[in-house]
Amino acid sequence: MKVLVVSGGVISGLGKGITTSSLARLLKARGLSVTVLKIDPYLNVDAGTMNPYQHGEVFVLDDGTEVDLDLGNYERFLGQSLTGSHNLTTGKVYRAVIDKERRGDYLGTTVQIIPHVTGEIKRQIREVAQTSGAEVTLVEVGGTVGDIESMPFLEALRELSYELGEGSMAFVHTTLVPVAGPVGEPKTKPTQHSVRELRAIGIRPSIIVARGPTPISAEIKAKISLFCDVPPEAVISVPDQSTVYEVPLVLEAQGVGELLTRQLQLPARPPDYARWKEFLSTYRENRGSIELAFVGKYTELRDAYLSHIEAFHHVQGTLGTTVQLSWYDSEDLPRDPAALARLRRADAMVVAPGFGARGVDGKLRAIETARTLGIPFLGVCYGFQLAIVEFARNVLGLPQANTTEVDPRTPDPVVCLLEEQKAVAEMGGTMRLGAQRVALVPGSRIASLYGRTEVWERHRHRYEINPAYLDRMAAQGLEVTGRSVDGRVEAFEIPAHPFFLGVQYHPELLSRPETPHPLYTALVRAALARQEVSSPAVPAAARA
Ligand code: GLN
Repeated sequence: MKVLVVSGGVISGLGKGITTSSLARLLKARGLSVTVLKIDPYLNVDAGTMNPYQHGEVFVLDDGTEVDLDLGNYERFLGQSLTGSHNLTTGKVYRAVIDKERRGDYLGTTVQIIPHVTGEIKRQIREVAQTSGAEVTLVEVGGTVGDIESMPFLEALRELSYELGEGSMAFVHTTLVPVAGPVGEPKTKPTQHSVRELRAIGIRPSIIVARGPTPISAEIKAKISLFCDVPPEAVISVPDQSTVYEVPLVLEAQGVGELLTRQLQLPARPPDYARWKEFLSTYRENRGSIELAFVGKYTELRDAYLSHIEAFHHVQGTLGTTVQLSWYDSEDLPRDPAALARLRRADAMVVAPGFGARGVDGKLRAIETARTLGIPFLGVCYGFQLAIVEFARNVLGLPQANTTEVDPRTPDPVVCLLEEQKAVAEMGGTMRLGAQRVALVPGSRIASLYGRTEVWERHRHRYEINPAYLDRMAAQGLEVTGRSVDGRVEAFEIPAHPFFLGVQYHPELLSRPETPHPLYTALVRAALARQEVSSPAVPAAARA
C-alpha cells in the first residue's frame, strides 16, 4: 500500500484539488493504477445538504453519494468513476465511531479522538486503498493545516505513515507564495509558517507546491528549500494556468514524476501524455468561437456550476471551438432589459439545475426566448422541468401551470413530487440519486447524438414530469424521447426546433476531457450551425 497525501497551507482555494488530480494523473501516465480519496473535515455526513455557495457544486457519483466537487476533478483527470467511500467527512467518521460504541465494539473503554477516531480514519483509508486495488492511493486533506477540524485527520495520517514504514507514504504540501510590496516580490514567509505548523504535528512534507500568480525563481525556491527542509528540486512552482488541464504537464516539467517515483519507491517508467497533449493542442486552436448563455441562480460563484464549465472545456478540447460562457443571474433577469436583449443574441443556452422558487421567473423567460427564437437549448434537471412549465403555459395555454415545488396548489401541476418522495422526511441523501438506466426512443435526435438507445446517467432530484399532460404536449410538438425503466420521463425534445432538448439527469457529471459528453458537444455544434446560417462565411448565392 502506497499513499500520497496532499495538504494545503496559508489559505483555502489554492487549487489543492487540481494539484491532487494532476499528481494522480502523473502516476497514471506511468501506467500505475491510482485512486483518490478526499477528506472534508466538516460535520455534515455528506455535501448533499449544503448550498452551492458554501463549497461549490454538489457532485454526484454513480452510487448516488453526494460529494465534494473535488471528486469531480479526480474523475475528470483520471477518467475513472469513484464511489462514496472516496469522500471521508468528520460526520461520516463520527457516525461510524458512535454506532460502534452503541453496538458495544469498544466495551469497557473510554472512547476518544485518539485512538478511536483516528483509528476509524485509518481503517476507512486502508479500506479504500484495498478495495480499489490501486497501487497508489492519493489522499487530499480539505481545509488548511492549522484548522482544529483537520487535526484528527492529520494525526491519523501521521500514524499511518509510521505504520506503513519508509518509502510507502509521502506528503505534498500546497501553499501560497503571494506577491507583495512595491516591486512585486514573492513572499515565502507564509509558506515557512505553514510548513512549521505541519512539522509541529509530526508531518514532514517532501514536496512543496508553491502556488501563485507567476512562476517563482530558483532563488525563491532555494529560500523555501532552506527554511522548509526540502531539496530545492522538490520545491515546485505552479503559477496560474489558462486551463487546469495544463497542471500535470507543469508538474512533469519540473521533475515531479521522478521525485514521486523515488520517494514512493515505484517502478520508474516513462510517462505517456499523447492523448492529453492532443486535447490541449485542440483546446488552443480557437477554430471559431460561440457565446453560450448560462442561466442559473448561483452565477456569482463559478464553482457552483463547475462540472458544466468543465464539460464545455472538454468540448473545446475536442472541437477546437472556443466556448465563451456568459452568465445570467436568473433572479435579476426579468428586471434587466439589457440582459434580456443580450440573451436574445446568444448562440446557445443552458438553463441550470436548481431548487426552490427563487430565480424561476428568469429561467422561464430564458427558456421562452430560446424556444421562440430557435436558440439551441439544453435544459438540465430543473432547467428541463421548467421547460415543461414554460411549454404548458405558453403553448398549451395553461397560465397557472407550475411545478408543485414552486406552487403546491397549482391547478396544472405539470411537474410534481416523485411518488416515493411523499413519505420522505429526512433531507440527507434521500433524493432520487445516482446512475439510472435511461431508454431512448429509436430514431430520436437524442438517440442519434449518443449513437445508442440505452444510456446510464446520474440523477439528483425529488420532482418529475407529470405524465397527464404529455399527450397534449406531443400534439403541439414536444416529444418524450427518453424514459427510465419504470417509465419516468427522462428526456424530451422539440423536433421542429433547431435544437431544443431537456434532460432530467445531469450529463455534466459524466463529461471528461478525453470523452466529452455528447449532449454538450451537440449543443456547441448546433450553435456553430446557427452562426453559419445567420452569417454565412460564403454568401448563399456563391455557394449555390
Ligand atoms: N428541484 C428539482 C427537483 O428536485 C430539480 C433538481 C435539480 O435540478 N437537481 O426535482
